Amino acid sequence: MEGKIERTFIALKPDAVQRGIVGEVMDRLERAGLRIAALKMVQASDEVLEEHYSEHVDKDFYDSLAEFMKEGPVIAGVVEGVEAVAVVRKIVGATEPYEAAPGTIRGDFSHMSMEHADERGKAVKNIIHAAGNPEEAEEEISIWFDEEEIHQYERVDDFHIA
Ligand code: UDP
Ligand code: MG
Repeated sequence: MEGKIERTFIALKPDAVQRGIVGEVMDRLERAGLRIAALKMVQASDEVLEEHYSEHVDKDFYDSLAEFMKEGPVIAGVVEGVEAVAVVRKIVGATEPYEAAPGTIRGDFSHMSMEHADERGKAVKNIIHAAGNPEEAEEEISIWFDEEEIHQYERVDDFHIA
């Protein structure tokens, strides 16, 4: 991969699938010109979630987070583009939906506060996960995907970023 073209890992969480907004969420990424390099529906296992959320495994909210992430299938994906990790985080918005700016995925499709979720012992249902930095992205891609599941192809608008 050349220059600042990089890939990131995303997962549309069970709330996005249950609410039937997978298409709308993916549209946000596609229309920014990002390339979908891999996409699949997966029922997350405890093992995968413990690896994926290894930084959170020992935290108080982990059990409720794992329970939420197993409520139904997720849509796991690899998205590629210029500075893709930071760009996707920007499109996704802040972790807490209450704080997430309008125009971001979390700000437009959810509104829950961390406090409200905590009081109920629930995870914050915030639609989508996106890797926080390039190292995390490569690690998460390797947890969820085999390299042969990740595709290379040209988008018709590639000449805009060449
Ligand atoms: N989370 C939660 N309660 C908390 C902190 C986090 O339910 O107090 C959930 C929330 O779904 C969040 C995920 O755990 O998206 C991972 O947390 P992180 O701080 O890594 O946020 P993210 O990287 O997803 O923005
Ligand atoms: Mg995180």
